[in-house]
Parts: sequence; structure tokens; C-alpha cells
Amino acid sequence: MKNLKEVDEKLERAIINSEIYKFDGEIATYIPELANVDSENFAMAYISTSGEVLLKGNSKTKFSIQSISKVIDLIMALEDVGEDKVFSKVGKEPTEYKFNSIRPISDKAANPLINAGAITTCSLINGADVEEKFKRVLEKVALLSNSDDVLFLEEVYNSEMKTTDINRSIAYYLKSIGIIEDSADEILDLYVRNCSIGLDVKELAWIAAVLANGGKSLDGKEQLVDREVVKITLALMSACGMYEESGKYLIEVGFPSKSGVSGGIIGIIPGVCGICTYSPRLDNSGNSIRGKKILSEISKTLDLNIFI
Ligand code: GLU
Repeated sequence: MKNLKEVDEKLERAIINSEIYKFDGEIATYIPELANVDSENFAMAYISTSGEVLLKGNSKTKFSIQSISKVIDLIMALEDVGEDKVFSKVGKEPTEYKFNSIRPISDKAANPLINAGAITTCSLINGADVEEKFKRVLEKVALLSNSDDVLFLEEVYNSEMKTTDINRSIAYYLKSIGIIEDSADEILDLYVRNCSIGLDVKELAWIAAVLANGGKSLDGKEQLVDREVVKITLALMSACGMYEESGKYLIEVGFPSKSGVSGGIIGIIPGVCGICTYSPRLDNSGNSIRGKKILSEISKTLDLNIFI
């Protein structure tokens, strides 16, 4: 692996090269509150598995993690009820349909990294009620992101709760076919709360670095996520993490990643580092255009593709 100075230079170069794309794409507005961001905002974090940190751009900006929360939902469901139960309720395969589609569900959602799948994994997180479940999620996020400043962005949550008819339909449908065993409204509530968690790029890259470190804390002292759970999570992120573009992205970039419609992408290079980019303008699939350009360039210049 390259030394930190060389990594820094390559990040700088990729950021400069991506500037020409900063007006390409559109911010997500179907959750009205997401429209209230600076569409040209940019930030990036790189954290090695030994805890070296590089921060770029407006790295203090907090944003709602949106679909990146699906990674946490999956980890917690796997830890709480185990692999067999999780995959009796949700599939392991990519899908060509949009992330919020209700169409591909027959007996269960295609995978845990689309909305229907994450609503399912949310229903498998332990806790007496929504409050307790969400408290556990926030504690897990604080632990994995090494942060004492995990936010709940209430405006984003309220805005999505008012407009999320499609996710409500999905939750009710999953309940009607017996996939969700609890109240559909409560599971929807937890799902949207998790999407509305506010983190910055450093906190998200720290989560990515812990996963890159096989689930161990970056000081190597504590196993924060079970190794088997990390293995499953990274495999599914590779196959399904970038919406219906996951295959194309995997060929181009070559490491497990997950994006969210607020413009964040986390990338995990096992044994090397965790990365997070933030740039809110999206392509048609819902992936950050500038984020993808940077990850694609540094995959080559820093030799991060896990397949070659
Ligand atoms: N809260 C968003 C939704 O359910 C998350 C979507 C995403 O980031 O892909 O529509």
C-alpha cells in the first residue's frame, strides 16, 4: 500500500479532476427537505485500517445518511437474529428495479440494500418498541463511527414521513405476506428514522474502515462487528450496494460500496481503508456523480480494486 503522503496527492488529484462534474446531475427532491442543501457541497474522508485520517472539502458538513443506513440495518439484523432467519425473510440477489420499487417483491425482497429489503431487516432489529430499537441503532452507529455526535435530523425525518407513500405501501405489503411480523407503521418509522441519522464524511469513513478491518476497532482491541457478519455485508454491498448500477460500478471501481440519495457513498477496501465521499448531485440511479468519478479514479491511481 502507498504511504499517506502519496494517498493524499492522489486524492487531491482526483478531487481536482472531478470538479468539471460538479454541476452534473440533480439533487434528490422527492424528500422535500433534501432539496435544502448546497448542491455543490463536497467532502471526502479516507481512513486507513490503522486509523490514519485524511479529510478533504467541507468535511464538517453533516448530512442524512439515507440508504447507507441499510448497511447498519443489515448488520444489526444479522447480529440480532442470525443469518438463517434474515435470509428466510430477504433475498441475496441484485435487482434491475429501482431502489424503492414494489414490483420485484413476490415472496420476499430481492436483497437487504434496497428499500423493501431494508424495511425487512429493520423488522428484525431487537427492541421492545421503536424507541428502544432506534436507541440501539444510534448506539451502534456511535460505536462504529467512533463518534459522540451522531445526529437525528428531525426535519429530514418529518419531511420523509409526510411523503413516503411508496415505502408505506412496501411495509404494508410485506406485512400482508407475513414477512414483517410487527406493526408495519412502526417498522416504517424505524426505517425512516435510520435514514435520517446525520453524520459527516469522517464518521461514515470510520464505519467503512472498521468493516475494512474485519469488524475490529481501528486500535485492534475490540471486535465491533462479528467477522461472519462483515463477510456477508461486504459481499452484498459488492453485489447490490449501488442500486441498479451495481454491476457496472463493481467493474469500474471494484470494491464494496453503498450510496444514499443524499449524495454520500461509502467504500470499503478490506485490509486497507474506508472511504466516504459526499456530493449531493445524483445520476438517474440515485448515485452521486462526483463521488463515483473520484472513487473510480482513485481505484486506479491507488490500486484499490480488490479483483486485480
Ligand atoms: N429514505 C430514502 C427512501 O427510502 C432512502 C433512499 C436511498 O438513499 O436510496 O427513499
